[in-house]
Order: sequence, then C-alpha cells, then structure tokens
Amino acid sequence: MEPGLKGRSAIVTGASRGIGAAIAKALGRAGATVAVNYLRSADKAEAVAGEIRGAGGTAFAIQADVTRKEDVEAMVAETIKRYGKIDILVNNAAIGFPLKPFIDHSWEEVEAKMTGEMKGVFFTTQAAVRDMMKRRYGRIIHISSGLSRYPSEGFYTHAAAKAAMDSGARVMAKELGPLGITVNVIGPGLIPTDATAHMPKEMFDFIAGATPLKRVGAPDDVAGAVSFLASDMAGFITGHYIHVNGGIFMP
Ligand code: NAP
Repeated sequence: MEPGLKGRSAIVTGASRGIGAAIAKALGRAGATVAVNYLRSADKAEAVAGEIRGAGGTAFAIQADVTRKEDVEAMVAETIKRYGKIDILVNNAAIGFPLKPFIDHSWEEVEAKMTGEMKGVFFTTQAAVRDMMKRRYGRIIHISSGLSRYPSEGFYTHAAAKAAMDSGARVMAKELGPLGITVNVIGPGLIPTDATAHMPKEMFDFIAGATPLKRVGAPDDVAGAVSFLASDMAGFITGHYIHVNGGIFMP
C-alpha cells in the first residue's frame, strides 16, 4: 500500500544514493513530484530521477550543497518554478564525521560536523518553509540517527550534531504547527549504504542478532516511515521522533 501523495511536491536532500535515493523513489511512487538533490553524484541523481519518471512519476535532479544558503535558495526556487510549490521537505543529506574517541577530536572536526549538519537543516528548511507558510501546509521530515538518543563509542560529533537537529525540530514543530506544517524526525538504526560500507560484516551480524526483528534496516524501511509522515495519514503527528531500528533500542 502506498500513501497517496498525488499533487504533492517534494524535495529530498542527498537523494543520489543510499537512504535519500530510496526516499525519493518512494515519494515518487506515491505520486509526489520529486526534486532529487545531490552534491557531486550527478549521474546517480539523474538515474534516480530517471527511475521515478520511468515508473510514471515526475522528478528532476538538482545540484545544491545544503550547507550553502545560495545553493539551497536556488534549488527551492527551481523546484517552485517547475512544480509550483513545496509540500514536503526531507532533510536527509549526510554530513561526514570522524569516527574516533572523544579525546582524539580537534575542535575544528567538531565544528565542521556541527555547523555542516545545522546549516543543511537551517538553510534548507528556512528556504522551503516560506512557501509552506504562505499556503498553510507542509511536511518537514529530518533524518537524524538513533545515535542521537542512544550513545555509541566513537560517534561524538554525529550524536551531538543530530541531537541539535532533533531539538531544533521540536521548536519548529511548535512554531509551525499553527500554520498547518508538521515537523518530525526519523532516527534510523544501522542501514547498509556507502556511509556504513567501511563497517565490518561482524558489526552488521552483531546488530542484526541484537535486533528483535533479526536483521539490520534497509533504505526502504526509512523510506516507508518518511512516506507515512509525508502523507495525510500523519496529519496529526508533529514534533515526534520515530525510531526505525527493528526494535534494537526502545525509548
Ligand atoms: P550516503 O549513502 O553516504 O549518501 C549521502 C548522500 O548525501 C548523497 O546523496 C550525497 O550526495 C549527499 N550529500 C552529502 N553532502 C551533501 C551536501 N553538502 N549537500 C547535498 N547533499 C549532500 O548516506 P546515507 O547512509 O544514505 O545517509 C543518509 C542520512 O541518513 C544521513 O543524514 C545519515 O546521517 C542518516 N543515517 C544513516 C544511517 C546509516 O546507517 N546509513 C543511520 C542513521 C542515520 P553525493 O552523492 O552527490 O555525494
């Protein structure tokens, strides 16, 4: 079953690969028009947009560095020019970070991740929400990480930056709710993508074994939750954090 998104217009950041690509395709299958954002992988983003169009949907690929205000404003303007509006914004772009003990970090590494993560969400949401506010309708979904709620060694900057994203989302939900705009956060567990390709197979096996559903997640698991939150079925849900993790952590 697909949530009906016919007539909706979506932007998915970091949609050339991994979780973002799955989200873009799921929203496209559900009937939304989709702006498939990427940083460098033009060919991959074009392939995602082509797959959506091949299945009867509407999509285009667009380059924008989400940490650059002018790039993001141009992306939002181009999406509105093509599709008339923005109903759904998925802040998914992955900002890199060093995986190492807290004690070994330099301040520059912390600052790069914190500002990168916050700039991406801040610039993109500010640019897109202006159109949503005018029309008193919107669905904003941040892709966080379960690591923002459940600590794991080595993930200091990632956990801290995603926790800042989570907290900001709740303020946005309070301020934008009266305007008909929902803001929610999804916290995925471990998902095999390019971002986790460096992790040993033993880690995937260990996580799968410790997970009640006895597997690690897939990009489509996250895409399903996003599609639900983007749909009218989730019209009364805002300010929430949904774990998509097979039950490995239960708040
Ligand atoms: P991924 O496979 O490495 O893909 C990263 C995507 O982000 C690519 O489309 C990349 O574009 C784009 N990107 C990177 N920097 C960007 C920028 N400055 N502006 C615009 N786009 C940018 O990552 P992923 O694993 O799918 O992660 C997606 C999201 O899920 C991230 O927010 C991540 O923190 C979160 N997450 C992932 C996992 C996991 O286990 N994989 C778990 C929890 C949360 P190019 O292809 O052009 O470089």
